[in-house]
Amino acid sequence: NKTIILKSRPTGEPTVDNFEFVNEPKPVAGKGEILLKTLYVSVDPYLRGRMSEAKSYIEPFKLGEPVVSGIVAEVLESHNDDFQVGDCVSGMLAWKEFQTSDGKGLHKVDGNAAPLSTYLGILGMTGLTAYLGLTKIGKPKEGETLVVSGAAGAVGTVVGQVGKIMGCQVVGIAGTDEKVEMLKTKFGYDEAINYKTTVNMQEAIAEACPDGVDIYFDNVGGEISDAVIANINRHARIPLCGSISVYNSTEMPVGPRLQVPLLRNSVLMQGFIVFDFAEHYPEALMQLATWLGEGKLTYEETVVEGFDKIPEAFLSLFSGKNKGKMLVKV
Ligand code: NDP
Repeated sequence: NKTIILKSRPTGEPTVDNFEFVNEPKPVAGKGEILLKTLYVSVDPYLRGRMSEAKSYIEPFKLGEPVVSGIVAEVLESHNDDFQVGDCVSGMLAWKEFQTSDGKGLHKVDGNAAPLSTYLGILGMTGLTAYLGLTKIGKPKEGETLVVSGAAGAVGTVVGQVGKIMGCQVVGIAGTDEKVEMLKTKFGYDEAINYKTTVNMQEAIAEACPDGVDIYFDNVGGEISDAVIANINRHARIPLCGSISVYNSTEMPVGPRLQVPLLRNSVLMQGFIVFDFAEHYPEALMQLATWLGEGKLTYEETVVEGFDKIPEAFLSLFSGKNKGKMLVKV
């Protein structure tokens, strides 16, 4: 039974050496427990935070213990009345091929209603983050301009589509020409900008947003955000979702440097963690599933095959190897 533990804490960019594979005996489900086989593993940028010792909204991983993330698993054996053999569940589980659970915190997922992988993406944490961050903080109104950074990722692809459904002009920022093309052709983005090949991002955003920026859904922070905020409109809203551009920085860039345009324009910038909106999960999931069923939403996944590839799949998020949700199929 292969298990991946956190061997050491990274300084700067994490590497495969921060993880270790250990072989444990296959566990046996006890009274009230179920035996689970891992099917899909979600790798996410926020796991970088949990590899560090720094205090955050969620506990750091302990050295020598298995890494945990969103997982879809199949019930192989059940001594728990809430689960039957063959059920599939999703929840926060360990990076193990097999594990037991008392079922707490696990939700049953239906592979006939939607592909199992989607419960880790558009019908899971990243879909909820996109929908709730945009609607609760961004509060889009018809005709407004929405800019999304990290636009071609799991969260970003959903934000742009929801923005379009709500009548916005939507502009995305991503790191390859292929992603830019995908945003415009597959996800309905009106404009998209490759931040790696654009010399002057501030000008490029001004050109793509002739009426300025009313909502900036920020997944990346750093210089990209500086360029967007230089184009911000009065009473704009900024859902501050992520700052992947600085997750591996050993020193935080000096700031604050954005306060003048924010202040002059009476901008609301609000950080959030998706759990802040937990009470709205049921209605949000219902909405996302309905739109998905009606064909108003679509999604993209990058699926890496094999349990052994989990660490590499995680690390490659930082070089933008994924389009849409990054997953490992075990
Ligand atoms: P993504 O699927 O977007 O994957 C990460 C992407 O970030 C990469 O594909 C890459 O795309 C981009 N990226 C990597 N390094 C940089 C950089 N230095 N500058 C700019 N872009 C970079 O991940 P998620 O959709 O899962 O997450 C997106 C963001 O949302 C993250 O910051 C994450 O931490 C945050 N998040 C926040 C949540 C919350 O509750 N607040 C919940 C879930 C996610 P490219 O090729 O375009 O560079």
